[in-house]
Amino acid sequence: MKVKVNQENCIGCGLCVSSAEDLFEFNDEGISVVKVDTVPEDKQDEAKEAIENCPVAAIEEV
Ligand code: SF4
Repeated sequence: MKVKVNQENCIGCGLCVSSAEDLFEFNDEGISVVKVDTVPEDKQDEAKEAIENCPVAAIEEV
């Protein structure tokens, strides 16, 4: 699977960055970006949780 963060929606709360640090990181503007092209098999649960838990639904599967 692949995921992306909608940069316009992200409020920089840090939830995805702290709960799935192998997948997300902050850019220089404090907005989350996806670190990987394809989510590794063993990180897919983390990615799905991040999608579900983002308070502004900024993360989506693509
Ligand atoms: S959980 Fe959502 S709002 Fe929070 S940093 Fe991640 S993408 Fe942005």
